[in-house]
Amino acid sequence: MTVTATVRSARPGWVTDAKLASWTRWVSAPATGGEPLTAVAPYDGRPTGPVPSCTSDDVAATVAVARRAQREWATLSFDARAQVVYRFHDLLVARQDEVLDLIQWEMGKGRFHAWQEILQVGNLARHYAKHGAAYLADHKVRAAIPVATSAREVRVPKGVVGIISPWNYPLYLGVGDTIPAMLAGNAVIGKADPQTPLTLLWTRALMAEAGLPEHVWQVVAGPGAAIGEAVVDNVDFVMFTGSTATGRIVAQRAAGRLIGASLELGGKNPLVVRADADLEAAARGTVMAAFANTGQMCIHIERVIVHADVYDDFRACLVAATSAQRLGAVYDYSVDIGSLASQAQLDKVAAHVADAVAKGATVLAGGRARPDLGPCFFEPTVLEGVTEDMELCLGETFGPVVALYRAADDEDALRIANQGTAGLSASVFSKDIAAADAIARRIRAGSVNINDGAALAAGSIEAGMGGMGSSGLGRRHGGEGMRKYTDSQTIVASKIGPLGPNARQTLDQFVKLGNGQLRLMRKLRVR
Ligand code: NAD
Repeated sequence: MTVTATVRSARPGWVTDAKLASWTRWVSAPATGGEPLTAVAPYDGRPTGPVPSCTSDDVAATVAVARRAQREWATLSFDARAQVVYRFHDLLVARQDEVLDLIQWEMGKGRFHAWQEILQVGNLARHYAKHGAAYLADHKVRAAIPVATSAREVRVPKGVVGIISPWNYPLYLGVGDTIPAMLAGNAVIGKADPQTPLTLLWTRALMAEAGLPEHVWQVVAGPGAAIGEAVVDNVDFVMFTGSTATGRIVAQRAAGRLIGASLELGGKNPLVVRADADLEAAARGTVMAAFANTGQMCIHIERVIVHADVYDDFRACLVAATSAQRLGAVYDYSVDIGSLASQAQLDKVAAHVADAVAKGATVLAGGRARPDLGPCFFEPTVLEGVTEDMELCLGETFGPVVALYRAADDEDALRIANQGTAGLSASVFSKDIAAADAIARRIRAGSVNINDGAALAAGSIEAGMGGMGSSGLGRRHGGEGMRKYTDSQTIVASKIGPLGPNARQTLDQFVKLGNGQLRLMRKLRVR
């Protein structure tokens, strides 16, 4: 692995205390305020923050303020709301270097992976500003009595939406879901992850520059469980992204209040290499999808299932491509992979690899922590000989580690791909797109990429994205990613007064008329 220069001090020089204060003022702590949050920068192990922290009472008060702001916001035209989002888009693209520095400082990823968050949020902002009105448009349907009555389904904002997001994509996951929720006429309470609050707060400040009214999007911060649960206890709908374990807690709490929840959870994503695949492309796709975001991406590849006929050749390609990765802690695009986000992440990744090796797996590339680069670095790693008794076989590692499995044929590859309970993302490499498509339909995963590892589905933002099985409920992106922040309301109207017998009809006459109509409509094949 090539190593490039590594920073000594992680705090970007331009981040003064005054700048910090200008962002942290966006933490909503109206009443009491708790202990300040201090996260640790993964590049140098020094504190980032401090960021004021909320209590559960603060969250309840914040939601009350949001309710008032939402009523006014929802009366604006869609176009007026969209103009704010367009201005935000332009500011984000122009000032991207600031937030790229913050993402790297707080989270440690390589700059290219941080930039992908800009790309994703920019595309989502434009997409929903342009197509949101169509996604929310009234839907006319046939009413009970043609001509004399009419029926429409209209979309009503949920009210106050809680968005709980993790640290791994603080911009994309914190803001990408907020934009469609706000455009649909909701107020949003964003819960910042304790590792990455500054990125979300910087973005909130930018949204204010774009003209967003102060209380339409408020950010609460504090310990995950207490503040996250307070959000679920007060809002009208929850968008949660995080681990499957926490997702279950959120789902149960939301069920208790009978509010909806969209849950984007963990994965254990497979990539299938068919015998006819372009092996160089498959290896390149695997490296990009497995080690993206230092492997801390919900849709990243952790299992590579290779047809036996090409296993040895593919393994050689993958090991070469992995070994060529450049690692380092730098605020530019000269490295491929950055650090893990925290000591806890490093400990988990190292433990998974150590457990596998102790039980007989072989390290083909990487496999070591790299304290010489920074306290949380781990090399991109390829393993083989992984068996089900090893934790990393079916348990999510969430790090730069991929395991190779040999499949006898396509059926065997499918069997391995569908092992476990997760079903988030998958990939199939093959020159025969129709054959790959047939396999894709039989993989239990919310998205399947053909001849790409993971980015294609994520970047195809008109299509819904989410999990099957233990990987979640609901979809982000596309129409569903916006309509879920609304309730469907049916509005019907009659030009002939109330439905039922008129003043001169008996019930008996009305039933006879109704039965005649049923028979006639069956004969005419109507509805
Ligand atoms: P996590 O579940 O620990 O935390 C996620 C968020 O929930 C954080 O903001 C945290 O503070 C908050 N939280 C913690 N306890 C809570 C509670 N009891 N109630 C409400 N909120 C609570 O997840 P993590 O470890 O920080 O993130 C990594 C996980 O997220 C991985 O499993 C990854 O696969 C998953 N993830 C999924 C997607 C997706 O789109 N499917 C995207 C990114 C990450």
